[in-house]
Amino acid sequence: MSSDFTQVVSDLRSLFPSASAGVIPLHAPAFRGNEREYLMACVDSTFVSSVGAFVDRAEQLLAAQTGAGYAVACVNGTSALHLSLVAAGVTRGDLVLTQAFSFVATANAIAYTGATPAFLDIDRVTLGLSPTAVEEFMTTECERDANGDWIHRASKRRVSACVPMHSFGFVAEIDRLAEVCREFDLALIEDAAESLGSTYKDVHSGTVGVMGALSFNGNKIVTAGGGGMILTSDEALAKRLKHLSTQAKMPHKWEYRHDSVGYNYRMPNLNAALLCAQMEQLPGYLARKRALASQYGALLKDTPLSFLDAPPGQSPNFWLCCALLENREIRDSFLAAANAAKLICRPAWELLSDLPIFDHAIQHGALPISRDIQSRIVNLPSSPHHFDD
Ligand SMILES: *Cc1c(COP(=O)(O)O)cnc(C)c1O
Repeated sequence: MSSDFTQVVSDLRSLFPSASAGVIPLHAPAFRGNEREYLMACVDSTFVSSVGAFVDRAEQLLAAQTGAGYAVACVNGTSALHLSLVAAGVTRGDLVLTQAFSFVATANAIAYTGATPAFLDIDRVTLGLSPTAVEEFMTTECERDANGDWIHRASKRRVSACVPMHSFGFVAEIDRLAEVCREFDLALIEDAAESLGSTYKDVHSGTVGVMGALSFNGNKIVTAGGGGMILTSDEALAKRLKHLSTQAKMPHKWEYRHDSVGYNYRMPNLNAALLCAQMEQLPGYLARKRALASQYGALLKDTPLSFLDAPPGQSPNFWLCCALLENREIRDSFLAAANAAKLICRPAWELLSDLPIFDHAIQHGALPISRDIQSRIVNLPSSPHHFDD
């Protein structure tokens, strides 16, 4: 079966009149606020590296925006996730539960600790880790040992943490995940790299778990050039994260003492300067993305693309707007038509469980929902600004 996407692609292009016949990117950053001014102020101050006023300010801005209590800046989102896992006590030989439907950084951060990922299925409505899958995995495949640790029977590994990811800015069923994690003593660490500005029942993504990691890569809703942030409500934990990100250097005027193997994961002040200016734009970006999402929703009614709107109870940031097609073949013919017309659309990531680098990982069941969604979903152009508009 083949579909002709000429009309729908042309209708989609018409949502971006200022692009005229040019390329409509998937997600391009925009620097129309105080970016230049803050960057120049940073250069003039000579504090361009890992200590500086913009780093402190960025941390305060993110803590305030999310209501997290504390925010610890990192050099990127992957390091923020890795450090969160380290601080949660995840260690070599452990098993960490996550979703197969995610960007590779989620599983890489787990691998850096020496732990093995266990890939579980997602929920069809939120595209985030399914609490039912976590509960089922823990009850059917794991048991408590004499020390009270939860052990995966087949691999004999300790299950220490759970890392849901808020796909494309939709918030996973975080309340139920938190309940299940409490029941099985799992550290809940949210990969909120894609969901800055998304809320579920008015609670910001990344603030329900013991830690949540954000990313400010160039393609995220706001960018630091590169950067990440760990959110937590625990002051002592925030201090420990900062310490670990700073080579675990003990405070002293001149001596170099380090009380553990630390990391050089601090965000440079230059990147923080860009981030501070971008955070001023966030409310406007969120409004534009939500408006674009409702335009997509209206335009795609009665077309072969079914738009993925906000799941009940939440207000996603619509980082990347999504639509589902009927099957892989139709998805591919839409992608071919859209990209040929310079409307840049993309499929989702390969399932992490299918990557040869994770051959050794655990997989729970056949992951039917992940597989189905992966084969049919597309991301639509979702920049916060387009051209001269
Ligand atoms: C972007 C992203 C990351 C990591 O971000 P970097 O800042 O590029 O290291 C992690 N997880 C997910 C799901 C992401 O989309």
